[in-house]
Amino acid sequence: MRKKIVAGNWKMNKTLDEGLKLTSEIVNMVPDEVNNDALVIIAPPFVHLTAVRNLLKDQDRVHLAAQNCHSEESGAYTGEISASMLASAGAGYVIIGHSERREYFHETNEELAKKVNIALANKLTPVFCCGESLEIREEGNYVEYVSNQLKESLFHLPDEDLSRVIIAYEPIWAIGTGKTASSEQAQEMHAALRKYIASAYSDELADNLSVLYGGSCKPSNARKLFACPDVDGGLIGGASLSSRDFVDIIKSF
Ligand code: PEP
Repeated sequence: MRKKIVAGNWKMNKTLDEGLKLTSEIVNMVPDEVNNDALVIIAPPFVHLTAVRNLLKDQDRVHLAAQNCHSEESGAYTGEISASMLASAGAGYVIIGHSERREYFHETNEELAKKVNIALANKLTPVFCCGESLEIREEGNYVEYVSNQLKESLFHLPDEDLSRVIIAYEPIWAIGTGKTASSEQAQEMHAALRKYIASAYSDELADNLSVLYGGSCKPSNARKLFACPDVDGGLIGGASLSSRDFVDIIKSF
C-alpha cells in the first residue's frame, strides 16, 4: 500500500527562531490519527536541521528532510552539503531536482541521477521532483517531457531502490504563482507517470510508489487534489510556512 504524504518545503525562509516556532506548532497541531494514515515531512534550510531534529526527536508525527544534497560524497566543494552530512544531522529525506535547483543552479537529469544514488546510498529517501514549464505544457508534449525526466534520473535504479523513492510532480507554471493545476490535469499526469513506471518496472512497483502533487497547493484546493486516485499527497511550498495552512492541508486527506 502506498503512503499518503504531505511534505513542506520551506525553501530559503525562516530564521532559526521562526523555524523552531513553526516546527513546534506543526508538531502540536498535527492530529494523532494522521499518524496512521499519512506521513508528514518538513524540509527546513540546512542550517536549521540539527535544531529542528532535536525538537522532533521525542515524537513520530513529523519527519525531517533536507532541500538538496551534493552529488559527490565529500571533497573540495565549498558551500555544499553531502548526503552523509544530512543523514548524520538527522534528516531521513532529501528533496532532489526541485525546479528552482534545475533552473537557477542548472541541475541536469544526469546530475540528479547521481544525487539520487548518493542519497539512497546514505539511507536518505529522495523526494524526486519533476515537472514541465508553461511553454512545454502549451506545446502539448508535457507527458513525454516529464516521463523523460524520470527515465534519465531514476530508471537506472534496481527495483528495490526505485521503490524507496517518492515522486513529486510539480508543474513549474503552478509553483508559487497561485495558479494550481486542476485535479484533472494532476490526475492525468500522475496516472501517466505511474503507467510509464509500470511499463519499465512492474504494476506492483508503480502501484506502491507515492506520487505527490506540488504547485500552489493550499487548504482550499488540497481536498480536491488529494481525492484523485493517483495523487498521494502534496509537496507544499508557500503554504508550508504557516502552521495553520500546512496542518489544514494535512487534514485534507
Ligand atoms: C514548491 O516549490 O515545491 C511548491 C510547491 O511551491 P508552492 O506551493 O509555493 O507553489
